[in-house]
Amino acid sequence: MFTVGIIGRPNVGKSTLFNRIAGRRIAIVDDMPGVTRDRIEYIAEWQGKKFKILDTCGYDLREDLLKKEMLKQFYASLDESDFFIFLVDGKEGVHPLDEIVCNILREKEKPFILAVNKIDNEKSEANVLEFYALGVDEIIPISATHGKNIDELLDKIAENVVEDDEIDA
Ligand code: GDP
Repeated sequence: MFTVGIIGRPNVGKSTLFNRIAGRRIAIVDDMPGVTRDRIEYIAEWQGKKFKILDTCGYDLREDLLKKEMLKQFYASLDESDFFIFLVDGKEGVHPLDEIVCNILREKEKPFILAVNKIDNEKSEANVLEFYALGVDEIIPISATHGKNIDELLDKIAENVVEDDEIDA
């Protein structure tokens, strides 16, 4: 099944977004980074398209934390997904790791949509602009906690879904 991975640094709000999409609290949400240790998946249906959403573990490619296992999991999740929601933190701004991950996604020719999270109100909307420095054409500002623009994000994913019967045909 067409698989959509949610990817991003620890604490950007991956689990919150996943729960928002799944509509129920089945992943663990915590203030401490790195809580999502195992992947959790959910089959979503939107605009008549079915796809699997994976809440993958957060990547952390900092030199001091370059753990073999973590990297292995990160690359495995890359291979597993057909499309990515690349989630970044609109409160914190662009992080050097965001650029690294953006480059890996491009190298691997993995399509993704950049979603800037924690855009809870009008005042924080200005924070979105700096993320264009990552070289993307389009950004979806969202608030996972307030449920803002989640429909637009799902629309975007549905547009990109290639269903199995289309692949077989
Ligand atoms: P993960 O590590 O990427 O899975 O991040 P979590 O989903 O556990 O969220 C990390 C923290 O960010 C939690 O305290 C969430 O409540 C908070 N958070 C997530 N989404 C939003 C959002 O849209 N707005 C704000 N203000 N906080 C958020």
